[in-house]
Amino acid sequence: MFRENIEKMEGYTPGYQPTDSAAVKLNTNENPYPPSPKVIEAIRQVDAESLRRYPPILWDSFRQAGSEILDVAPQSIVCGNGGDEILTVLIRCCCDQNRPLIYPALTYSLYSELATIQNCPAIEIPYDDYNHLPKKLYNTDAGLTIICNPNAPTGTLVAIEEIAQLAGAVKGVLLIDEAYIDFAPQNCLELLKRFNNIAILRSMSKGYSLAGMRFGFAIASEPIVGAMLKVKDSYNLSIVAQAAATAAIKDQPYFKKNTQAIIAQRNRLIKELPMLGFDVNPSQANFILVKTTNKSAREIYDLLCKQNIFVRYFNTSGLTDKLRISIGTPDQNDRLLRALADIMGH
Ligand SMILES: *Cc1c(COP(=O)(O)O)cnc(C)c1O
Repeated sequence: MFRENIEKMEGYTPGYQPTDSAAVKLNTNENPYPPSPKVIEAIRQVDAESLRRYPPILWDSFRQAGSEILDVAPQSIVCGNGGDEILTVLIRCCCDQNRPLIYPALTYSLYSELATIQNCPAIEIPYDDYNHLPKKLYNTDAGLTIICNPNAPTGTLVAIEEIAQLAGAVKGVLLIDEAYIDFAPQNCLELLKRFNNIAILRSMSKGYSLAGMRFGFAIASEPIVGAMLKVKDSYNLSIVAQAAATAAIKDQPYFKKNTQAIIAQRNRLIKELPMLGFDVNPSQANFILVKTTNKSAREIYDLLCKQNIFVRYFNTSGLTDKLRISIGTPDQNDRLLRALADIMGH
């Protein structure tokens, strides 16, 4: 009944969304803090008249605020209904049967799903070492190459200069997925001045606590922006989402306070979990990837669920029996550590 590629695909599996508000939810890398009070205020101020009208096509207020904060031109910003829409639009711009999507793996599993929908090959080049890009990436016929940096689900970060070398080597577009960059010490924005085949993806879901609002954006060179504007839905972001995201990005003090608290808690878990017998990957994101010893990750996952604590369990090739834990508030992390100490018999 449907196109063959759609019939064959299984679809993206999102993390479990418990409805119990008492649950400690550390399974989908959301921000544990609410959005800035200024966001709630901006949403309240959306009036009937602006709901009656179509929203700005080119997200003028967000572009202006984002350009000031990131020090880029307003016209270099393209907004999407979540960073995920940015991925969809770029794949539609760049990929077809002769122009594959190529990315190092393991990484965000949505990339391959989107390639399947677009009916273009998704070529995964395995990392030998998550701290460096695989050499095979530098010489491909990709229509689009994606580097997730920091990478999900490993939390590892590749150096800017390595990505610069890749930008100089690839023939197609290079997308740097910086969904988690708000928790990392450096970003690739400066590369936009050096290369015109680069786009950088940002999300308001993680650092700015707006996963439920759906707002992401790309910063890209003029030709890439031009192509994306042709492909995107004309009114792709509601007036409410535009108002909320603009207020969120403008409130930098609030953003910095929360991201710093999350980084401090991340470093705390990286220090304390090994004392309970876990192997933790160093991470530059708002989650950690954990390998268990003595007990299987599956068993620990089940025991945590019983205590109303939800983390992400992975068991796929290359990611066998691992837990990915999003960083919560100090209280949530206390509860997690207590539960894990209990489970491990400490
Ligand atoms: C969260 C995430 C995105 C974008 O998420 P949105 O909620 O759609 O903004 C993109 N890439 C990766 C790797 C992510 O984890």
